[in-house]
Amino acid sequence: MSSFKTIYQEVVGNQYDFGTGTWAVDSDKIEMKLDQYGAYHPYLTEPNWNFTDEEVELFKQTCLSTSTKNESDIAKSLFDQVSNIKYNPQLGYYCGLYIGHVLEGNYRKNGSSGGFVTWICSQLLRHDYIDAVIHVKKSEQPDKLFEYDISRDESGLNDGAKTKYYPVEYSEVIKTVKEVPGRYAVVGLPSYIMELRLLADQDPIIKDRLRFMIGLVCGHQKTTKFAEFLAWQCGIKPGDLKTINFRKKQEDSPASKYAIELVGTIDGEERTIVKKMSELVGGNWGQGMFKIRASDFTDDVMNETADVTLGDAWLPEYTTDSKGNNIVIVRHPVIKKLIEDAIGNHLLQVDRSDEDTIFRSQSSHFRHTQNELSYRLYCKDKSQDWRPQKRIVASKNISMIRRRIQDKRAEICLQTPTLYQKAVEQHSLKYFIKEITPLTNSYKNLYRMQRIENKLHRILSKK
Ligand SMILES: Cc1cc2nc3c(=O)[nH]c(=O)nc-3n(C[C@H](O)[C@H](O)[C@H](O)COP(=O)(O)OP(=O)(O)OC[C@H]3O[C@@H](n4cnc5c(N)ncnc54)[C@H](O)[C@@H]3O)c2cc1C
Repeated sequence: MSSFKTIYQEVVGNQYDFGTGTWAVDSDKIEMKLDQYGAYHPYLTEPNWNFTDEEVELFKQTCLSTSTKNESDIAKSLFDQVSNIKYNPQLGYYCGLYIGHVLEGNYRKNGSSGGFVTWICSQLLRHDYIDAVIHVKKSEQPDKLFEYDISRDESGLNDGAKTKYYPVEYSEVIKTVKEVPGRYAVVGLPSYIMELRLLADQDPIIKDRLRFMIGLVCGHQKTTKFAEFLAWQCGIKPGDLKTINFRKKQEDSPASKYAIELVGTIDGEERTIVKKMSELVGGNWGQGMFKIRASDFTDDVMNETADVTLGDAWLPEYTTDSKGNNIVIVRHPVIKKLIEDAIGNHLLQVDRSDEDTIFRSQSSHFRHTQNELSYRLYCKDKSQDWRPQKRIVASKNISMIRRRIQDKRAEICLQTPTLYQKAVEQHSLKYFIKEITPLTNSYKNLYRMQRIENKLHRILSKK
């Protein structure tokens, strides 16, 4: 039987901790706090707490990186019996695949993509399937911009629309779920939804009250410093940012070329600034600046244990529309019926989609998160480091150039926090840019080499 110290070191010490808040739900001896680099971790409330074998086993079974159940096990137990359900190894279970947006109301205008997440939550409330929605809203706390909160009506729901590329943890709201009877839906990233499923497996109250789990696709999680760094580039110094809209739609641009909108103080005056992401350092998601390292050790692209999964339709035929479109993977029959009824009533504009199109919308995500995870696992095994068990098998069987790209991504991810901290200490944004640029330049060079290699392959294959 592992001790608490061992599993803490394995998971938190080795950066396989997604910062969800699950252990703080398991035990009052644990609390969630942001570390100096802007990532959530579980901490002991008293340094000398001891844990029984049962408590340690509960931590183990409710943690994605140590549980004996993986996403496929959980998804099978939830969805295998749903009538007309299909299974695809990449997408997971599904009974409906759609791409489109909400026509009704202002959901699309207020949302990051097609407005589907807020619309589905609102439908579940309106049709009395739930009493409340747990999602992410602006925080009034001084140390954070956003936090998980509970909305019980349409206006609260709308306040929480929009993607937050910002860390959040759910220990306090899930404790509220345990204290306040009711039927809840929760919106979350893949690791959060999976750990809620694991929690629900251990706790019948959570299982009963969390009626719907609404999943987002997630390229990777960011630390709080991502928002701070974007703001600093716009003239808002660390500590002076009040709020940020990470996904401001630009009327004249494709949906993928969005801007950010910031509110903060510059020279004592409150200012609102809009800046295109493409004009800022850090906007390249492949590079993974300010990425939570655990994100590199999930293999769940499509939030496979969620009742419905929503993402952006990153496909040329949809991104030309600046207003945004969702991909929608439905697994729960109630949500399928709500969508089908709304299609009939012209409240939604959707295309019925297929596995290949949905897959293509996230093809780079699949390559990094599934195909090339094999290489990241291989590197861990080679250096004989502890690592979580994944559904992907460790292997170095990817091209040399892709291995180097993976190495560079790891370097950028691991070096960003300390370089950025030094920049803040020195009050010098320039310091960070100067130090990170050689890494991002060599990353770009690798992509140049890959393009040349691909071109050569095409020429040779024609001969
Ligand atoms: C960190 C992160 C990474 C993402 N990466 C990808 C990606 O790689 N590919 C892709 O296709 N889509 C990704 N998404 C999802 C995408 O940005 C949209 O959120 C999704 O398409 C839903 O859009 P919508 O218009 O339907 O949602 P909206 O109607 O705008 O509603 C969004 C809902 O999500 C909740 N929410 C916002 N941020 C968070 C958060 N951090 N954790 C939990 N709930 C939250 C809000 O409170 C709100 O209820 C990511 C989202 C996040 C938060």
